[in-house]
Amino acid sequence: DVTATKGNEFEDYFLKRELLMGIYEKGFERPSPIQEESIPIALTGSDILARAKNGTGKTAAFCIPALEKIDQDNNVIQVVILVPTRELALQTSQVCKELGKHLKIQVMVTTGGTSLKDDIMRLYQPVHLLVGTPGRILDLSKKGVCILKDCSMLVMDELQINQSIIFCNSVNRVELLAKKITELGYSCFYIHAKMLQDHRNRVFHDFRNGACRNLVCTDLFTRGIDIQAVNVVINFDFPKNSETYLHRVGRSGRFGHLGLAVNLITYEDRFNLYRIEQELGTEIKQIPPHIDQAIY
Ligand code: ADP
Ligand code: MG
Repeated sequence: DVTATKGNEFEDYFLKRELLMGIYEKGFERPSPIQEESIPIALTGSDILARAKNGTGKTAAFCIPALEKIDQDNNVIQVVILVPTRELALQTSQVCKELGKHLKIQVMVTTGGTSLKDDIMRLYQPVHLLVGTPGRILDLSKKGVCILKDCSMLVMDELQINQSIIFCNSVNRVELLAKKITELGYSCFYIHAKMLQDHRNRVFHDFRNGACRNLVCTDLFTRGIDIQAVNVVINFDFPKNSETYLHRVGRSGRFGHLGLAVNLITYEDRFNLYRIEQELGTEIKQIPPHIDQAIY
């Protein structure tokens, strides 16, 4: 029963004295609502999916239970925190270090774009808590230098899931492409104007809840819809005008997240491409040979 264990003070969680000192020294007087909801449950070791607005204190909501649960006399990786960027990894490790100032917990940051060799060397020293991006941690564990068998807590922050919307110019093509994608063994939803409203709403609702990562649709879908997890828009059919283009690509990268728009352009699309580039005063560039997956 969540309400029964709900406390209004950090003391109510029976944390290690050293951790409590770190919390108060950081200037936290009381748990924020998301901390109040999640800390007691996380301390029991249950799985949690938590969502709260920016700036509500989610970092400490998972760092406090993580620091509490770590046995500092056992020099193995016990907690892994996965984040999408190096900046967030550094920021999160800083919060762990500050809150854990009076504990003897070793925190390591590991992300792409830095020396792999340095990380390997660092892993010869004790690490209790590892903060990093998924690609680098996967690399290190594949190499056998990052041992995760004793890890009992995994946090995924701001990795909420990534979704893509794939646009076609007609109902027929939506159905055809969705069929093809499914045949290839990938899952996808589709929405178009010839579907009953009820059905459309259901698919949209399920997509928004993350039931599927790919949605194929016509322009029906473009206006006034915000799905935070959508960070890739693919114009399988290139749009006919700049207004449609803008509405489509505007679906990705909302709320300050980075977005990627991929256009498949045929020879017939070339005049539309030039016109849209001119009207929007932008250049639609060729796909670079390497796309840093960590960014998107
Ligand atoms: P989120 O991840 O939810 O966007 P952060 O974890 O980055 O938010 O926290 C936002 C700010 O709130 C930070 O400056 C953090 O130090 C502060 N903060 C977190 N928890 C508390 C608390 N219990 N009391 C006071 N300030 C807090
Ligand atoms: Mg955060």
